[in-house]
Amino acid sequence: MATLGIPANTIAVLQKYDFNFQKKFGQNFLIDTSVLDRIIEASHITKDDMVLEIGPGIGTMTQYLCEAAREVVAVEIDKNLIPILEDTLAEYDNVTVINQDILKVDIRQLAEQRNGGKPIKVVANLPYYITTPIIMGLFESHVPLDSITIMVQKEVADRMQVGPGTKDYGALSLAVQYYAKPEIIANVPPNCFMPRPKVGSAVIRLTRYETPPVDVMDEKLMFRIIRASFNQRRKTLANGLKNGGIPITKDELAAILEKMGLPENIRGEALTLAQFAELSNFIKSIKN
Ligand code: SAM
Repeated sequence: MATLGIPANTIAVLQKYDFNFQKKFGQNFLIDTSVLDRIIEASHITKDDMVLEIGPGIGTMTQYLCEAAREVVAVEIDKNLIPILEDTLAEYDNVTVINQDILKVDIRQLAEQRNGGKPIKVVANLPYYITTPIIMGLFESHVPLDSITIMVQKEVADRMQVGPGTKDYGALSLAVQYYAKPEIIANVPPNCFMPRPKVGSAVIRLTRYETPPVDVMDEKLMFRIIRASFNQRRKTLANGLKNGGIPITKDELAAILEKMGLPENIRGEALTLAQFAELSNFIKSIKN
């Protein structure tokens, strides 16, 4: 294959099709073969795997994925890229390109139809403007997933890894760490893309847990509590829960916090994942 990861090849394709980058779609195409190699290596793809690629662009990484996987489904929103992908992926018969907004695709159904409901691998150089909804959507809709290996904004990769006590800690950190083990694979500078993004990027692998690291009676309730806590992160947990409409009285919460050995005026942002799980289990048992 003539790799598009070499800048001259990407430029040739863009010129051939007179392609205009669409800023609104977060289009920054990878032009570095060593980064592509790292992503493929980190994703541990085998010939048994079905891979979902989100936003194939001109097909740069898709070519690598087709070589490594049994089957690739690539979902691209920009209709102007579809004829280009037909060209750059012409030599592969194990790829399907879907011209859709990934947020509107039923990925569970896709995994069911194409992979018999077995866990799929997601690999993507994500459009940064929708990183969080994509990741949350994958986890919360319980798509059968093995791992997600993605390029994201560096700061977002950091947010996925941290615990309490840093400004980056938030609802995304907790969701990611409840569902998966996050590992930063590589930092990627702006000059590896065309056009260059304004921010640094990182490749992160999220390996889905078979069972989450904490026991939670009602996941939805725990995430409602987490969101309520971080919506007003400078307020106390008690105020955050009240304003977030969590059904618990001040006195009930005070009693729970005492049992958990936490001060009454604690802020939600100070709680670990295990503590959010414990708190939500207490609230659930009161409400049952
Ligand atoms: N994978 C290519 C690469 O590495 O060179 C392109 C990556 S670029 C950062 C993001 C890609 O996602 C673009 O091709 C963009 O058109 C596409 N995209 C943006 N929003 C999307 C959405 N909602 N659904 C599917 N694809 C989307």
